[in-house]
Amino acid sequence: MVKFFEKAPYAPVEYAYDVEEILYKGKSKFQEILVIRNEYFGKMLILDDVVQLTERDEFFYHEMLTHVVMHALQHPKKIIVIGGGDGGVVREVLKHKTVEKVFFVEIDEEVINISRRFFPAVSSGVEDPRVEIKIMDGAEFITKRKTSDIDAIIIDSTDIIGFARSLFTDEFFVSVKKCLTDEGMFVTHTESIHFHKDMVIEIQEMLKKVFPVVDLYTAPIATYPGNWWAFAVASKKLSPRETRRKLEISTKYYDEEIHRQAFLTGRLYERLMQRKLEW
Ligand code: SAM
Repeated sequence: MVKFFEKAPYAPVEYAYDVEEILYKGKSKFQEILVIRNEYFGKMLILDDVVQLTERDEFFYHEMLTHVVMHALQHPKKIIVIGGGDGGVVREVLKHKTVEKVFFVEIDEEVINISRRFFPAVSSGVEDPRVEIKIMDGAEFITKRKTSDIDAIIIDSTDIIGFARSLFTDEFFVSVKKCLTDEGMFVTHTESIHFHKDMVIEIQEMLKKVFPVVDLYTAPIATYPGNWWAFAVASKKLSPRETRRKLEISTKYYDEEIHRQAFLTGRLYERLMQRKLEW
């Protein structure tokens, strides 16, 4: 059986997936794009040899990246999604009836095209009239924006290397804050709380320099290195731990109890930030 080997970024670990079939292999202006089929995970999207999503478990990540902030907000109307070329986060955002406008800012148009072709169930929301697609660097989009009218900014980028780095700088976080309404919220993935603890801490520290409220929650993702993924969330005043709306959408994993349980306990958070977490 042919295997696909994934070298985990920033960790001395490699994963091997059985490849039943190679469905697509190509190169965009930005990255190598591969679509394979694995018996258990189904179709898998791989960029520069790193697994981005699988048909089987994509909803864990997309629901958890999207619905925590969307339920911590009372009436989210205008949303910016950066990255997420597969369309998974856009699909989840659009489940909320309050949403009037989604700016979908992806640097690589080819990822959107490949996803439409091979992952129609994931990219289903991309054609929605509320969605405006911008093919550009998300950092440029955010820094050029002059109004503070966005309710949620959601970063669904590739790993914090290469062109995704522009989304993890002090200047970018300052611009994000300027784009948000007073009640607005920002969320980004921050890699694995197992393998990338220093990175998780560093992003919390960077956000704390800009936002009064910064927090961290986690979710289980079978196909991301370390399998226990961390998300940083920041706001000008509202706590993201609280849900401010009832669950009125259909989800497979996320619910109000998961929302509460996903946040790191105060004790663990303190130990993490003091660099005393022993794992
Ligand atoms: N959830 C996935 C993961 O963490 O493995 C990410 C999925 S999504 C396919 C990631 C997308 O982010 C890619 O399509 C990539 O082109 C896009 N991206 C990376 N850096 C970006 C940037 N600076 N601006 C806009 N999009 C970016």
